[in-house]
Amino acid sequence: MANIAQNPVLICIRLRVLTDNYLSLSTQSSSVILVSPIVQESGNLRSWFQANSSELTQMVHERSYANPYVLLPPVASNRISQISYIGQATNFDIGTAWIKGTISLEYRMGRLWYLACPHCYLPNDFSSSWGIMCRYCSRDIYTFPRACVTLTIKDETGSVNAIAMGDEAEKLIGINSYRLYQADQENVHLTDHVANALKGRVMLFYVKHSSHAVRATKGARYTIVTSYDIDEVEAIAA
Ligand SMILES: [Zn+2]
Repeated sequence: MANIAQNPVLICIRLRVLTDNYLSLSTQSSSVILVSPIVQESGNLRSWFQANSSELTQMVHERSYANPYVLLPPVASNRISQISYIGQATNFDIGTAWIKGTISLEYRMGRLWYLACPHCYLPNDFSSSWGIMCRYCSRDIYTFPRACVTLTIKDETGSVNAIAMGDEAEKLIGINSYRLYQADQENVHLTDHVANALKGRVMLFYVKHSSHAVRATKGARYTIVTSYDIDEVEAIAA
């Protein structure tokens, strides 16, 4: 085995690119991983690594691999899809898209949190959190509250509902998951307050098709992977 401290070069073929944790790679049965292959590309990559090693080390320390600004920075306007376009299933085969629109919280009946499995973060709406098994990944769990919010996003061509969960939902709502849960226990209703704070904001979103579990429990066809206020986008571009 290659020694990890020697920064071995990996060449991976036929990986799946997923939007879990913003961006991640996953193997499938046909994937191939070559460790320290003796090929020209490997030498080129090693030279590039050595030339940039201090910046790369810093990126690891700063946890850039979990930072949406690094992994999925805002895109130029020519890469933004019209909402009517993603609404047509045949046009959205790729599974992800950037969209821009004005947001509102139309559906105010649901809670702003859900009980999540601590392993896969999918919703498990059990009343008791003792001795249960996640219905999706089949591991023993103690569920925990996690923020979620379904937004209506509207542009000049149409509108779409998309759900944000976890960190993205906390970022949009501006309140952490535990506080959202606690407010419900204390019978404090935050939905109208949150709806007013969100209403009319113009935002850029990277959305994906929702997983089966999210569609089944939350009824949202699209899930927000990351989002930016339009002011943030302009500040980054400037
Ligand atoms: Zn699970």
